[in-house]
Parts: sequence; C-alpha cells; structure tokens
Amino acid sequence: MCQIVHDPDSIYAIGVDIGGTKVNAGLIRENGEIVWNCRVETLAGQANPADRAIDAITNVLKFLDHNGIEPRLKGIGVGSSGQIEWRTGSILFGTELIPGYVGTPLKQMLKDAFGLPVLVDNDVNVLCLTEKVLGTGRDANHLLCLALGTGVGGALMINGRIYHGAWGGAAEAGHMSVDFKGLPCLCGGAGCLEQYASGTGIAARMRRRLSEQGVPDKGITARDVIALWQAGDRIATEIMDETFAALGTALASLIHMFNPEVVIIGGGVTEAGEMFINRVREEVRKKTMRSFLKGLRIEPTFQGNLSGMIGAALQVWEYDTCDHRKM
Ligand SMILES: [Zn+2]
Repeated sequence: MCQIVHDPDSIYAIGVDIGGTKVNAGLIRENGEIVWNCRVETLAGQANPADRAIDAITNVLKFLDHNGIEPRLKGIGVGSSGQIEWRTGSILFGTELIPGYVGTPLKQMLKDAFGLPVLVDNDVNVLCLTEKVLGTGRDANHLLCLALGTGVGGALMINGRIYHGAWGGAAEAGHMSVDFKGLPCLCGGAGCLEQYASGTGIAARMRRRLSEQGVPDKGITARDVIALWQAGDRIATEIMDETFAALGTALASLIHMFNPEVVIIGGGVTEAGEMFINRVREEVRKKTMRSFLKGLRIEPTFQGNLSGMIGAALQVWEYDTCDHRKM
C-alpha cells in the first residue's frame, strides 16, 4: 500500500464509529459527504473494537490504493460508545457488550498504527458535530443533543463548541435524576432519566407492570411498547406517559440551565417520529418558563445511521490538528 501522508490542508479524513456490535469507517470530505465506507462486525463483542477499528481503517486505505488515490489525509476521527477521556483518547468506561474495551488507549493505538493525528470522543458528542455541520443545528451556537437508545446519552454545544467538562464526561444526561425517590440506577443514584427514557428502561417498566398484572413475560421490547402505545394500548400509554414526563422534566432543567437555541433528540426510541417528538415538545412547554421557550426549537436528529461516522471525521476540522504531536 502507498505511504499515508498527513496533509493538514486536506479536505479528506477517515471517520470511525464504534458501537456495541459493529464498527463503521469511511472516507469523509470536509462538508460531511461520504466518499466510501465499510462496516466491520465486532462478532457480538468477542473482538476488541480497537483491533476492529484498525481493520476498518485499513479497508479504507485499501480502497484508496485500489483506486490509485494518494492517501493525503487530515487525520482520523473516532466516535465511540462509552466514556472517553477526551485528551488522551482512552476508554474509561464501556458497555458490557464490549469486554476488554475499558482502559484501551485507543488514540495512541491508532496514531502508532497509521501515523496520523487522531481524535477520539464519545459517540453523542460527535453526533452533535454532524448536527452542527449538516443537521438542524446548522445555524445554532447553543445546542443540546439527547440520544435515546439502549441507554441515554447527551451532548452540549456552548458558543459553537462541544463542552467536554474536566475530562470529557460532560452532558451525561442519562444519569440526571428526575425523581430522587425514583427507580434505583446502576450509577448509585435514583430516578435517573435513563430508567424512564432509554429502550432498556421502557421495556423493563412495561415488563414489571405486566408481571404485576399476572401477564406472562414474553420478552417485550421497547419497540413493542412503542407500537402498543401508538395503537392506544392502556398500559403502554401509562408507561410512555411516564417516559414523556421524565423527558420533559429533564429537558426543562437542562433548558433552564443552558438556555439552548435548539434541542435535538435522536436514537432508536424516537423512531416513532412526529407523534413522539410532539409529546416531548408538549411536556417541555408545560414545565419551562416562557422566556426560555422563545425561539427554542425541539427537533428530531439528522437522519441516517452513518451520521456517527460522519461526525467522527468532522472532529479533525473542528479541533486544531496542526500540532500533530499533541493529536
Ligand atoms: Zn444513573
């Protein structure tokens, strides 16, 4: 393969999205356009995602080689599930789906393997960058993103920049409590948003409610609960009413705290579309001071399951990679 060249002025970078079961990698232009991409399975968590990321990046470089394109790249950007120490690009805490991932010095591994600047951030933070460049957040400087999936993740953009906090853990909205007497959470707290608004939390509350009524557990999922809610089922409606009340409470607190222009909500749980987002808007309106609602938009996320990979690559233009040694 030809020698990779680090070109700080290049309009091309490699974006990598690491999830619980797969790694997506692609060649991305500065405007967010995907030139080429591939997907590598992590074999249901049996393979370390860092090794899979190296395989996926190698695939992108092979594509360039086969097409006779000289690999002049600005860098590599990675978005990963879990908690990331942003400066060092190490994995501090990851999902149980990925054994052996915690403690991986991902940034250093990729720098050593490819000799390019590397940026590693949490998957919701990089999604927020996609929103800023391509999505609803295009003209906004103050942005709040919530991702409702297996868990609940958050990202916060203040004055046009992602807010990382002391080490990169900021905006962990899933562990914001909406009820100090509420359901216990793995974090040690009670009533965390994740217990009410994640797919896992929605399914667990439905199962508990059904078992109280003597209905046998048929392994109901969040998708089933949402379909039942849309069809007007009484118990599913009670469960989802709780979900919307929790989301409204959490969002109202965050809106009062950070005064965003746009709130963007995505993740598998929001696949119900307009019906879901309208209920969130309604709950927020009930619980938020009028001055904060003026001009506030609450919108669904930029569509497409590759938006994490795009946002991952966008990091190399968002953050200064001129000092190659630091990145
Ligand atoms: Zn918690």
